[in-house]
Amino acid sequence: KALERLQKILAQAGVASRRKCEELITSGQVEVNGETVSTLGAKADPAVDVITVKGRPIKSENKLYVMLNKPKGVITSASDPQGRKIVSDFLHGIKERLYPVGRLDYDTEGLLLLTNDGEFANLLTHPSHHVPKTYLATVKGVPHGSELEKLQRGIKLKDGMTAPAEVEYQDVDPEKKQATITITIYEGRNRQVRRMFEAISHPVIRLKRVRFGELHLENLQRGKFRHLTPKEVKELT
Ligand code: URA
Repeated sequence: KALERLQKILAQAGVASRRKCEELITSGQVEVNGETVSTLGAKADPAVDVITVKGRPIKSENKLYVMLNKPKGVITSASDPQGRKIVSDFLHGIKERLYPVGRLDYDTEGLLLLTNDGEFANLLTHPSHHVPKTYLATVKGVPHGSELEKLQRGIKLKDGMTAPAEVEYQDVDPEKKQATITITIYEGRNRQVRRMFEAISHPVIRLKRVRFGELHLENLQRGKFRHLTPKEVKELT
């Protein structure tokens, strides 16, 4: 734990001046992990402890934004009752609790954004925010151009028509009877890419997200993560 004096943490979080923060502590208005702390020598770790003033959590000072190359067979959630691997198992050295920005299916691999900036996450996952997401989909059989055009124009799924998408052949393997298609969508419905290809009777065998907004997976190794640059964070919003 990186412990610091409570009054210093409060002051750095912009709660009030150092002197005023000392008063808040001694008057019993500050809690750490649900316990009132009213002595001035007390320390805490702002990255892991929940610190509240008059019942309100203080702002965490460092916002983190990372991209992970999620392997398949990993679940995009904070915990799994069945004990399967979860994305945070791959965030070595990060003690902050990060939340995924949208999700990737258990069997989907590739670019997953994670952050502790709730506002940023909400903004990017809001339906009105049409972030382009590009996937490499390896599908069963080789779809005709006319079938890909259907996906491009929009196709009827049980939750309605899909918005126009960009679709391109990446690789065609007639021997294996499969094809890899690049598809860019501007929505984020549940299992959307899989359902789109099911709708043209070419089920997805392998799915990998390679782009989210202006972020590209590039050569980030499977199971590895990296922090976004401030410029990358700005470009996303
Ligand atoms: N579309 C899917 O079908 N699955 C994903 O994980 C992401 C997009």
